[in-house]
Amino acid sequence: MRIDIVTIFPEFFDVLDISLLGKARANGLIELGVHNLRDFTHDRHNTVDDTPAGGGAGMVMKPEPWGEALDSILDAGPADADPIIIFPSPAGVRFDQKMARELADEQHIVFGCGRYEGIDQRVFDEYAARGRVRLVSLGDYVLNGGEVAVMAMIEAVGRLIPGVVGNPESLVEESHEDGLLEYPSYTKPAVWREREVPPVLRSGDHGAIARWRHEQQVERTRRVRPDLLPTELQASEG
Ligand code: SAM
Repeated sequence: MRIDIVTIFPEFFDVLDISLLGKARANGLIELGVHNLRDFTHDRHNTVDDTPAGGGAGMVMKPEPWGEALDSILDAGPADADPIIIFPSPAGVRFDQKMARELADEQHIVFGCGRYEGIDQRVFDEYAARGRVRLVSLGDYVLNGGEVAVMAMIEAVGRLIPGVVGNPESLVEESHEDGLLEYPSYTKPAVWREREVPPVLRSGDHGAIARWRHEQQVERTRRVRPDLLPTELQASEG
């Protein structure tokens, strides 16, 4: 997968050199380009923002540098990749595991990190008229910029690309994969500070372990995120 990021803070993404995603880059599973929006300006101060049309507080990102940056990335992108452009935005659709799975199948994702009061609307309209554009929110709160949201999305998507996580089975049982939160995990020792690993997990009875884990998932989801509980479980176990 090819990922391009446009930002005024390219150094934010230095951490993509480490851990599993760093390894995935070294192995060629993920190809990353980080582009400084200011490199696409032509004035002495590398200006990327201006006052809002119609007045109001704050500054808005100017369309011209965005147009130049995105055109150059799209022109240089992999042929036949049908790129998708994602702009993180608190006004976008909510990012979730389903979207992460869908994005993990993409060949070329371009992320555009907004700052200030956001990006001139015409940038979204221009690229939506030419291809696939999504405004995506990390959650119902406001960040200072899109960089942290893009980092979160890249991590969630990147670990679903085949080969990035060593044991693919570890992805299957995670929270949100089957609509439920994950069951609690334990390791050795069997007793720590008088707290015991539940005996069923040490029983060797795989059927009983699977049943216990499912019950824990349902109980935890009901307690913490009742909004996620599938209707059939609400009816049969509620
Ligand atoms: N004025 C904008 C609004 O009210 O919708 C908020 C702008 S915010 C200060 C600056 C940038 O941070 C946004 O353009 C977006 O890139 C990013 N951002 C802020 N909150 C976000 C969220 N919940 N999810 C994704 N991106 C977010």
